[in-house]
Amino acid sequence: LPEQEAFDIEYWLLEEAKLQRMPKPKSLAGRVALVTGGAGGIGAATAERYLSEGACVMLADIDEAALASTKDTLSGRYSKDVVRTVAMNVTDEAAVTAAYAEVSVEFGGIDILVSNAGIASSAPIEETSLELWNKNMSILSTGYFLVSREAFKVMRAQAIGGSVVFVASKNGLAASPNAAAYCTAKASEIHLARCLALEGAEAGIRVNVVNPDAVLRGSKIWEGEWLDQRASTYKTDKDGLEEMYRNRSMLKRSVLPEDIAEAAYFFASDKSAKSTGNIINVDAGNKEAFTR
Ligand code: NAD
Repeated sequence: LPEQEAFDIEYWLLEEAKLQRMPKPKSLAGRVALVTGGAGGIGAATAERYLSEGACVMLADIDEAALASTKDTLSGRYSKDVVRTVAMNVTDEAAVTAAYAEVSVEFGGIDILVSNAGIASSAPIEETSLELWNKNMSILSTGYFLVSREAFKVMRAQAIGGSVVFVASKNGLAASPNAAAYCTAKASEIHLARCLALEGAEAGIRVNVVNPDAVLRGSKIWEGEWLDQRASTYKTDKDGLEEMYRNRSMLKRSVLPEDIAEAAYFFASDKSAKSTGNIINVDAGNKEAFTR
């Protein structure tokens, strides 16, 4: 009998080892995601995370050249069949509707929306022109409204629920100096997400928010006017800003696009099946906000 027992154990261990080597089922297999701002740092990293879990991804962005190069990169790593692009300005109602029609034609529906397309531009309040204020409101607040409204229409019609993920900002919760237009627009995204969570729950449409703190590396936002504005506000350069953000975090680490993508993956997948109207701050533990 002990011999039989030893044999059984050995057999079981071999079977277990075989199971370990077998490819695991991918958690987003069969799901379709639309990622706005998909040609940018956080959007492309999120698209890649979803592709790695078996999703089909439609990248939407206003920047057609960046879209083409992001598609080339991702298609080289995954199959061409699972990555598509659509040129779309999130402030253009007709273009947003057309983009959803394109997703339906290409992939037959939509399960996940990542509303992420954005800019960052601000100034001290006395220098904030109406044009600058409206630019923030239109791309961030109105853009998030338009893309999520269309997602709701499609998801409700499909009647199988869905997940909407907003990439907002820590600046939507905490004030930042000389950035009232941007902070206010980001705050409105967060409140929109809460309202939509309430409206979508019965239909199984979950709406959650990922709030990045400053992501300096890999983001085009930190190559343009936002960098100049932040540098002048804090009287330092890009390296100095990165050091400042790292030092104010409890973990003393810089936040990367892949860190945001991981939180956006959690909210897109069934791992967060019981989360809606919730926020994940990806900020390496912002000490200032924590100790206030
Ligand atoms: P990014 O500039 O690399 O990507 C943003 C993308 O959005 C770009 O590809 C851009 O072409 C696209 N876009 C801009 N306006 C658009 C429009 N009207 N229609 C369609 N596409 C448009 O920047 P990112 O860091 O990847 O930013 C992604 C999101 O994360 C933004 O909403 C941003 O506000 C937010 N965020 C970024 C940071 C950061 O420090 N990088 C921090 C907090 C929040």
